Order: sequence, then C-alpha cells, then structure tokens
Amino acid sequence: MNISLDDPVLKLISTIAFANDTELYAIGGYVRDMILERPTKDLDIVVLGSGIDFAKKMAKSINGKTKVSVFKSFGTAMLNYNDYEIEFVGARKESYRKDSRKPVVEGGSLEDDQKRRDFTINALAIGLGKNNYGQLIDPFGGVEDLKSKIIRTPLDPGITFSDDPLRMLRAIRFAAQLNFIIETKTLQAIHENLTRIEIVSQERITEELNKIILSEKPSSGFNLLDQTGMLEIILPEIHAMKGVEAINGKMHKDNFHHTVKVLDNLCKKSDDLWLRWATLLHDIGKPVTKSYSRKSGWTFHGHDFIGAKMIPGIFRRLKLPLNDKMKYVQKLVQLHLRPVSLSKDEITDSAIRRLLYEAGDQVDDLMLLCEADITSKNKETVKRHINNFRLVRKKLKEVEEKDALRNFQPPVKGDEIMETLGLAPGREVGLIKNAIREAILDGIIRNDREEARRYMIEKAKELGIEPK
Ligand code: ATP
Ligand code: MG
Repeated sequence: MNISLDDPVLKLISTIAFANDTELYAIGGYVRDMILERPTKDLDIVVLGSGIDFAKKMAKSINGKTKVSVFKSFGTAMLNYNDYEIEFVGARKESYRKDSRKPVVEGGSLEDDQKRRDFTINALAIGLGKNNYGQLIDPFGGVEDLKSKIIRTPLDPGITFSDDPLRMLRAIRFAAQLNFIIETKTLQAIHENLTRIEIVSQERITEELNKIILSEKPSSGFNLLDQTGMLEIILPEIHAMKGVEAINGKMHKDNFHHTVKVLDNLCKKSDDLWLRWATLLHDIGKPVTKSYSRKSGWTFHGHDFIGAKMIPGIFRRLKLPLNDKMKYVQKLVQLHLRPVSLSKDEITDSAIRRLLYEAGDQVDDLMLLCEADITSKNKETVKRHINNFRLVRKKLKEVEEKDALRNFQPPVKGDEIMETLGLAPGREVGLIKNAIREAILDGIIRNDREEARRYMIEKAKELGIEPK
C-alpha cells in the first residue's frame, strides 16, 4: 500500500536523508493518526543509525538557529519545525529485565524497531527514502486492525505487558480515545499482568488517566479499567463507589455507573480537564457517608464535605498539581449540591448571593456539573430538574447584575475598621468584618462602601465601641 505524502515537512526530511545517505521512516502514532484522519503535529521518525546525529543535520540544513533537544540516555532528539514537534530516534532492539520498565537497548533494524512497539496500530511505518517514499510497512496487520477497530499487541501480549506494564493502560486509553475494542487475548493478558502496574511511575499512569478523561466518552475507558481490575489498583476511591445494596427492598443506585454517566454528559459540554476531574470525583464521599434508616432510606449526608476533604490526598497520590487546580476541583466537589438544594426551595436572593460569593468564577462550571448530574431515566423528572436549573441560572444572572457579587471583596477592610474605630487587631475587628459581609449577603445592606461604613459604625455601637 502506498500513501500519498504531500506534507512539505516529510518532503524536506526525505531530501535531507537522501543528501546524507540515511535511511529513515515515519513511524508510530503519526502514521496511525494519518490513516485515521486524525490530524496530529507529533511526528516520530525512526532512523537506521543515530537519530541524534540526523536531528542535528536537519537543524543545520533548516538554518543555524533551530534548536535541537537531545535526550542522550534515550538516544532521541527533538526539534520543532513548521508547527511540528519532530522526534528522531535510532532504530532499536530491546530486551527487558523483570524488575524494571527500562530495557536494555541496542541498535537494530526497522523490523526490530517495529517489534518493540506496543500495538499493531502503533507499529506502522512509512518509507521516506527516494525509492520507498510513501510505502507503508505493516508487518503485523496494523491497517487491518485500524479498519476493524482492534487493539492488539504485535507479539505475545503477556510478554509485551510484562516487559512494560504501562502498555496495559495505553491499551485501555487507545480503546477509549479511538473507540476501539481490545482483542480477547490482549485483554486477557491485562488481567494476568495487572499487578505489574506497580513498577510504573505514578506520573506515567496519571498521564494515561488524563487522556482517558479527555476522550470523547470516558465511560468506555473507565468501564475497561473496571472490567480488567485496574480501577481498584489505581483509583480505589472510584472503585469503592461500585455496587448496589438493598435493605427492606430499597436499593441505592450504583454510584460508579452513575458517575461515569455524569462524566460522559459533562464531556459533551466541556473539554476542560479539571472540570472533568471534578465531575469524576464529585461523589467520591458517598461510600464513606452511606447510611440507611427506615425513615429516610439511603442517604449520603455530608458526602460533599467529606468528598472535598478527600481531594488533596487523591491529588497528592496521583501526582496531580497541588495548586489552584486542586483547589478548583475541591471547591466544585464541596459545592456540587448547592444548586440542587437551591432549586428545590423557593429561590431567595440571599441564597443566590451566598452561592455567588462562595463559588466565585467557578459558578458557571458548577452549573455545568449539576446539569450533567441529571441521569434519571424518567423523562418528567429530567424535565423538572432541567427547568429548575434554568431558573437557578436566571436568578444567578439577575442577582449578579444587581449586586456584582462574583469574587466579592468586602467594601470595608480590616485596616479601615481598625483605623476608624481606633481598634487594635483582635476579635472585635473580625466580628465587625463578618457582620458586614453577612449583611451584604443577606441583602440587609448593598455591596457599597458608604452603606458598609454606616453599618460598621452601627455594629460597633452595639458592641459598646465608640468611634474615635
Ligand atoms: P499519543 O501521542 O496520542 O499519546 P502515540 O501512539 O503517538 O499516542 P507516543 O507516546 O507519542 O504515543 O509514542 C509514539 C510511538 O512510540 C507509539 O505510537 C508507539 O509506537 C511507541 N510507543 C510509545 N510508548 C510505548 C510503549 N510504552 N511501548 C511500546 N511502544 C511505545
Ligand atoms: Mg505521539
């Protein structure tokens, strides 16, 4: 099979290779994605010889300024050109030891190099030489597997996964990303090699998790993680949400299946990785707060609060960033019931102001999460919830326009309170500050400096403080 390669970048690489008498091929993800017509700017080139030397030659012939990043221990080099990130690697042959994913590497042929690739669909190469330009080299039936949407390892899957257990997660990730099926023997080998995932660094695992979460329908990835037993090892908190229990004929829903459904819903509305994480984790507090009483049936009281408290620990273990992204996820988990309870009662301005104050800029994302959380099969129920949230959104907009409370900063600060009332730092300053904030949120005064100052003096008098 021949593929027409019009891209000037490939033509340039080919010309430089010819001038330097070097044999090289485009390989891996780039070729796969080209056949699938998924545009990609990641280009991997395998060189028979030194990838680093060729990268340097290419940089020189583009112009003297092109920067080459060399990763000596991997034998690879990278450069950016025309929006492309091009990685050059020497063709290699690999053998593995039992206790590490770091292989013993030696130079090899193109075929050796294709054999060490993880899946047939990732082992495709295209010739870039004068005589084989555009020629597809597909020793393991990768094109056929692309057509039938199958993930399969080129060699024995047990050995492939045992050599580098990250590949098990990559299989699940590609299945989720591409909407493919994992071939039976390959899937079986994941079951058998499951615990070997322990030798893989958390960063690599989390990178794959992120890619599953960023796929169009993450539930398919999470269901595979679950079915293979991987979920319990890498995300025990999500695994704990699985299952239903019945007492006196009353059943609660399976919170795992509910959660991945909510995540799929949300993914139709947002590509944001962190909003997607917040959605995945929003009910994480349910297993520990689950309780049954004859009167109320199944309840999960406080799962919002407990769930939010679990977030830093989960982020730390998964090596996700412990910065504002973590805080953002925590806030959404903490607040995810608020719009729901708001929409149940009569919606007061004061409740809306409090939500705006607490959610700040995250209020829109919070509404998206809550709307995705509607998974009832009953059409009437769905309609009622959607309508209620529409009302909440309308109210949020009205109150926001009126009171400008998003990211609210109190109009009178601690310094000013101390200065005006002649107070030293202490309990009274805090009391007055809180009283002003509460009065604004309750709608007793407006979010306005003069009103807040008058209120401050009034409160001070109540506390027996005379202004200076
Ligand atoms: P994406 O870029 O979407 O993550 P990809 O398949 O391009 O997918 P990369 O990590 O960029 O993945 O790797 C490029 C190629 O290197 C792959 O297509 C595959 O041939 C090979 N490869 C990557 N990781 C492994 C691995 N753990 N085991 C074997 N081959 C691998
Ligand atoms: Mg890639």
